[in-house]
Amino acid sequence: MNGSINKRANFIRYSYIENMDNNLLAFENKISNNGIDVKWISNEEELVSFIRQSLPKAHFNKVCFDLPQVPDELFDSSNLIKSISVEDVENNIESADFLITYANFGLVDTGSVVVLNHKCKNCFNKVENVIFILDINNLIVKSSDIGIILSLYERDVIHGNQQAIEIISRPFNKIISNNYQFEQGDSYSTQKVNVTVVLYDNGITEIMNNAKLRESLYCINCGKCKNVCPVYKVNHKYAPIDLVKKNAFATNRKNSDIFENTTLCGNCDKVCPVLIPFTQLLNSEMELINANDHDDNWHDLGKNMTKRLKINKLNGKIRRYFFVRKLFNNNKKLLNYFMSQQDDFFNLTNTKVDKNAEL
Ligand code: SF4
Repeated sequence: MNGSINKRANFIRYSYIENMDNNLLAFENKISNNGIDVKWISNEEELVSFIRQSLPKAHFNKVCFDLPQVPDELFDSSNLIKSISVEDVENNIESADFLITYANFGLVDTGSVVVLNHKCKNCFNKVENVIFILDINNLIVKSSDIGIILSLYERDVIHGNQQAIEIISRPFNKIISNNYQFEQGDSYSTQKVNVTVVLYDNGITEIMNNAKLRESLYCINCGKCKNVCPVYKVNHKYAPIDLVKKNAFATNRKNSDIFENTTLCGNCDKVCPVLIPFTQLLNSEMELINANDHDDNWHDLGKNMTKRLKINKLNGKIRRYFFVRKLFNNNKKLLNYFMSQQDDFFNLTNTKVDKNAEL
């Protein structure tokens, strides 16, 4: 990794996160002045009710979603929504009244949203209403810094394909009819597309208020930590950053699955371009659970996980298995867990990144 770029990126994220309240207000002000509506939403329940209220018809509003996950609650028995695929809108097979997607970043100084390599990138001017959902930690103070952040994504993700990056600063128009005559005087009419940016909290403020976990909000969703995680390779459950966020407020074994989903190998520490200290964050979460949960079995498990840090320094199969036996001999559960893993599970120096990283 290029250390100085990573330090700079860490500073860019620090500058936003550590003054998030003021930056968010400045962003709201700027983007509203640019003519884009802003809506503050706290949680998924509010998001569902906002989307429902935005839909004008009693039945079958045609909505195109380009989101990693669409809340199930939106689709109830009222048939309020007819879901239209991105491909159908893009290929003019279907029209949609609404496009709901997420924004990767907001730029505070220009009041813009940045959309990076989305499936729906060619659909923005084919619908009447576009709603961008922007997590409130995903803003950058100075627009001139976006280039540095984008340079931290895998080259294949960007593809050198500039069309994959959209920066939207004001409402735009959609073409509603055209009359091409292949000569001067071709005419077409346009209609303003209503653009709304949802500033989505979804638990971020709570993480923000936790001094130990705040750094997890620096994430730029590049996907690198997931691609080097030996546990994710086996069970495809949590990217390291998702594991940190999911367990941010876990206080006991019942509401946590942290111990089963990390080996504290430290691979993610090595590849994170904004220098999120995963091992430290995961350790803090484990310590909190151990302090509150006195089930001896799990207490030992948590305590022994810190020995994983010693294994990180080892290389070579025989040495490693010798030390795994030695370190975890009193904890058969964890010993069996480690011993049952394939060799690449312990591949602690593997920083090769999957070129197909999801954004
Ligand atoms: S490596 Fe993981 S935590 Fe770091 S920026 Fe990328 S996705 Fe976020």
